[in-house]
Amino acid sequence: MKITMEQLTHYAKNYGFVFQGSELYGGLANTWDYGPLGVTLKNNIKALWWKRFVQESPVNVGLDSAILMNPKTWEASGHLSGFNDPLIDCKACKARHRVDHLIDAFDRTISADGLSIERLQEIIDGSTIKCPACGVRDFTPIRQFNLMFKTSQGALDDHSHDIYLRPETAQGIFLNFKNVLRTSRKKIPFGIAQIGKSFRNEITPGNFIFRTREFEQCELEFFCEPGTEMDWFNYWKKASMQFLLDLNIPQDHLNFSDHAPEKLSHYSNATSDIEYQFAWGFDELWGIASRTDYDLKQHQAHSGESLEYMDPMTNQKYLPYVIEPSLGVERLFLALLTEAYEEETLDNGDIRTVLKIHPALAPYKVAILPLIKKRHAAQAQTLFETLSKHVTCSYDDTGNIGRRYRRCDAIGTPFAITIDDDSLNKGTYTLRMRDTMAQITLSEPQLIEYIQKHTAF
Ligand code: ATP
Repeated sequence: MKITMEQLTHYAKNYGFVFQGSELYGGLANTWDYGPLGVTLKNNIKALWWKRFVQESPVNVGLDSAILMNPKTWEASGHLSGFNDPLIDCKACKARHRVDHLIDAFDRTISADGLSIERLQEIIDGSTIKCPACGVRDFTPIRQFNLMFKTSQGALDDHSHDIYLRPETAQGIFLNFKNVLRTSRKKIPFGIAQIGKSFRNEITPGNFIFRTREFEQCELEFFCEPGTEMDWFNYWKKASMQFLLDLNIPQDHLNFSDHAPEKLSHYSNATSDIEYQFAWGFDELWGIASRTDYDLKQHQAHSGESLEYMDPMTNQKYLPYVIEPSLGVERLFLALLTEAYEEETLDNGDIRTVLKIHPALAPYKVAILPLIKKRHAAQAQTLFETLSKHVTCSYDDTGNIGRRYRRCDAIGTPFAITIDDDSLNKGTYTLRMRDTMAQITLSEPQLIEYIQKHTAF
């Protein structure tokens, strides 16, 4: 049985994965803080993505560009004029809705994403859609709402100092295309990857950490020769899906949602979302877009600098085409918890909560548990010092061993080591597996090797 959102939110708060943001002051709606386990899981997600898409790639390189960018960036990219969501208010209860979402929920056969305001208004007027919050049908006209967060730089509070928090990490990559090309001596095709925070003033944030105004993206901009983009689009679709499968998300909980030609953004000639079956149904996890040469062309025109690539074999110049796989870290976090959470009924009737998450993602790889504190703690602490140089370890010497195992299971620790008299006398340790609860006996050198082997990605 799949976990409900209510259970998951409760679980995440209870075990220190995710807390309400600014909780001490009554919270700030739709902001979340990541606790000791949450930050480690998030870091592990990002590290595995980086390993797969940068470290193991012979052609991709990394970047960390600034969140605050020259505002001309957003003029050129089209975000200032076009990064809008259609908004409608219920006059009766004042609830605010995204029109495309209202229409999608009303009639799945209509695809409202990307339609013009006029067309959306026609659909609303010709339908019987009611406010999902109060059931009344009395709406304001549709308006466009720009999702960019505005702030100002420096001491002067006038509009000449307006700047924006980036709504995607991608533009930082496009602005550095030439710098990276020159310094890394890469040749097309190659990619630039970046992980970082993005900000969107979403109209309807919600579903826990699924849609927030501050979130993290793992983005790759892959530059290729015009005409080859469909091959690379398919290549990165497959590679992205494979990454999720390798994290133990089953294929039947994932699907590709290919955008119909009339739904494509103006800069894209193909887009597909990988959707995951969240608690409320399939929804977007990872957007993969073929962005043509739109971004480089825009920045070339607005900056007056050539961003063309010179092919060293043919001496021909061209603006590369771009494939962009863009993954939301929090959405993958949510998918992984949803997928891994289980409540198992044991032979004795007890319920065991267990997070069967991929060992490489587990916040702690191993728990170190001295059987009797007085007798075994000293050796357990020495083992902690040794093992924590290699993997993340937790240490727990309080309560009965069964209860300590349960806590390890509940937070997804794949292995637990018990230190007992045999450890003192013979140097052997009992290693217990989270998923099967089976136990094996190993010596200290074997422990390190075993745990590293079974927590690798
Ligand atoms: P949606 O249709 O859900 O608003 P989008 O198509 O606007 O998403 P993209 O611009 O393609 O999203 O962003 C790439 C990825 O960034 C998304 O697939 C998602 O994982 C993540 N993402 C986008 N917006 C948010 C958000 N508000 N909160 C959390 N993650 C987000």
